[in-house]
Amino acid sequence: MSRGAGRRVPRNRSECLSVELLLATGNRHKLDEIQAILADLPFVWKSTQDWPNATEVSEDGDTYDRNALLKAKIWSERSGLWTLADDSGLEVDALDGRPGVRSARYAGPGEDQIDKLLGELRGVAPDARTARFVCTCCLVSPDGDAFSEHGELRGRIALERKGDGGFGYDPVFVPDEYGGLHLAELPADIKNRISHRARALAALRPKLNELRGE
Ligand code: IMP
Repeated sequence: MSRGAGRRVPRNRSECLSVELLLATGNRHKLDEIQAILADLPFVWKSTQDWPNATEVSEDGDTYDRNALLKAKIWSERSGLWTLADDSGLEVDALDGRPGVRSARYAGPGEDQIDKLLGELRGVAPDARTARFVCTCCLVSPDGDAFSEHGELRGRIALERKGDGGFGYDPVFVPDEYGGLHLAELPADIKNRISHRARALAALRPKLNELRGE
């Protein structure tokens, strides 16, 4: 595994063009969203695919913060690069915050996540179906310094799926601010403006700007 690139903060704009930033997620959808949200930043993007033989990082911590930090730290150590990781999930009030940090592993093998969610919420009235997406984004330097920020998107769980954009629970999540449209019905650029991930990354921007020498 290569180490050594991106070891220090660059001093000027021409140097910053060569700063490599590793996105430590194996989730293609998250990768695309993060890259779209940060598209104006001139990093040289790396992904975990650039280390095809690396073992997967287990995400069994009990908080988003812990999982995001763990992923970013391990991948930064492996690569020697500035590394950004996201850990996120869906918290449903009527389910006491579940599936939460276990959102990716909520349904059993062969079971559909959304079917399970709609099943658990059967009989729960629209007004009581409040929920939020939450996200921690963690940036770790090659020296191991960590910077974490949070974002959330409030909304409700619909009675049925709509739309084919986004990923995960987007077809049944109705954000408070878009007149009843499901997240999967919104164009990607709108989701990428309002999402929990976008908000966490917006809070990390000052640090990312510093990293590119501003
Ligand atoms: P993890 O962060 O890899 O543990 O995965 C988080 C899980 O939460 C994903 O697999 C999705 O099921 C769900 N999730 C996180 N963010 C989103 C989103 O933007 N839309 C829909 N589902 C999401």
